[in-house]
Amino acid sequence: MIPQPRGRFLKVKCEDCGGEQIVFDRPATVVVCLVCGATLARPSGGVAEIEGEVLGAVE
Ligand SMILES: [Zn+2]
Repeated sequence: MIPQPRGRFLKVKCEDCGGEQIVFDRPATVVVCLVCGATLARPSGGVAEIEGEVLGAVE
């Protein structure tokens, strides 16, 4: 059986300003950098397409 998929939180580094932000990996809407407004993640019906650099998962 496949376990029920659950979202995770990822630490993503913004490629534009270098800021780090916690991003849900299954967002319903586009996630933007709170500092500069660059797109960090795009919803894709499942796990998001992460635009920045993923530094790791947040427990
Ligand atoms: Zn930024």
